[in-house]
Amino acid sequence: MSRVYNFCSGPAALPEAVLKKAQAEMLDWHGAGVSVMEMSHRSEEFMSILASAKARLTRLLNINDDYEILFVQGGASTLFSQIPANLVNGFDSACFLNTGAWSSKAIKEAKRYTNVKVVGSSKEQNYTTVPDFSSLDLDESAAYLHLCPNETIGGLEFADLPETGLPIVADLSSTILSRKIDVSKYGLIYAGAQKNVGPAGVVICIIRKDLLARSHDSLPSIWNFANLAANDSMINTPPTFAIYLADLVFEWLEEQGGVEAIEAINALKAKTLYDFIDASAFYSNPIDPAFRSRMNVPFTLADESLEALFLQESEAAGLRTLAGHRSVGGMRASIYNAMPIEGIVALIEFMRDFEKRHA
Ligand code: PLP
Repeated sequence: MSRVYNFCSGPAALPEAVLKKAQAEMLDWHGAGVSVMEMSHRSEEFMSILASAKARLTRLLNINDDYEILFVQGGASTLFSQIPANLVNGFDSACFLNTGAWSSKAIKEAKRYTNVKVVGSSKEQNYTTVPDFSSLDLDESAAYLHLCPNETIGGLEFADLPETGLPIVADLSSTILSRKIDVSKYGLIYAGAQKNVGPAGVVICIIRKDLLARSHDSLPSIWNFANLAANDSMINTPPTFAIYLADLVFEWLEEQGGVEAIEAINALKAKTLYDFIDASAFYSNPIDPAFRSRMNVPFTLADESLEALFLQESEAAGLRTLAGHRSVGGMRASIYNAMPIEGIVALIEFMRDFEKRHA
C-alpha cells in the first residue's frame, strides 16, 4: 500500500525521508548491532543521540546559554500540572490567557496548584479571535503568564506576545519549529512531540535557567525541573526511540534550510488552502483572518449532512483523517511541517470536485 496524505492533528505525518532513515537503521544503528530501542540509555551511542538532538534544536531555534533543554515524559498534558507544580513556589497566583480548548485545559489543571487569573479570554467569541493584548488584566506579581500560541482544535494562532515582565510560559505543541520565534522572550516553552517533532512519548521543554531555582525539593524527583536539568533529562529511562526520531526530524529540518525556510513553505501552504476556502460558498472557516492557524485549518461544509460522505470520499481519495476534533465536529486539515505542498493541492482538488458534485 502506498502512503497517503495524512492530515491528522497528532500523532501526525512525519517526513518520509525520516521514516526511511529510521527504517534503514532499525536493526543496526551505526554498526552497534542493535536498534536504538534496544540500547542502554546510558550507552555512549544513546548519549551521542541525545547530545545531537539538543545541539540541533539549539541551532534551529537559536537558543542561548540562558536556557536548558529538557526531554520530559507524560505528554504536554502532564506539563499542565508539572509547570505550576514547579513554578508557583513562592507566588500566590499565575496568569492565563484563554484562547481555546488547550488554554482551558491548562487553566483547569493549574487551578489545583495556585490561584489562576484569567487575564484575557475570547471564550465569548467562541474562540474565533484573540483578546486585545493592550487590555489584558495582567498581575505583575504572579508567577508567570501562560498562553497557547496555536490552538490545535480551534485553528487559532497568534505570533505576537503580550508586553509583560512576567516569564511567559507557552504551549507550542502544535506550532514549534513551524515559524521563527525569539526564544529569549519566553520563560518556558513546552511542546508535545507528536506534531512537528516526532512520535508521541516525549515533550520538548525549554526553560530559562533562573526559573529552575523555583523547583522545590518536595516535588516528586522525576517532576522536578531542576532535577531533570541536573541529570540531563535522564533521572530514569527516557523515551529513547522518540528522542532518536526527534533528532532525525531536526536533521531533516536543517536540510530543508531550517525554520525560516519551512516557515515560508508553511505560510504558502496555509494561504493556498484559506484562499480556496474563502473563494468558495460551499466551505467556510470561522476564525478571524488575522489569527488563522497555519498548522490546523478547520472548515465546515454549507450542508452539514454531507460531512460523513465528505470524510468517506476523502479517505478513499488518499486524504486521511480530515475529521474535526470530536468536541467541535466539522473538518480539520492539520498541515504541519511534514505535509508537502502537493498534499494541499490534492486536498483542494478533492474539495473542488466534491463541491461540484454536491453543491
Ligand atoms: N497542547 C496542545 C496545543 C495540543 O495540541 C495537545 C494535543 O493535541 C496537547 C497540549 C496535549 O498533548 P498530549 O496529548 O501530549 O498530552
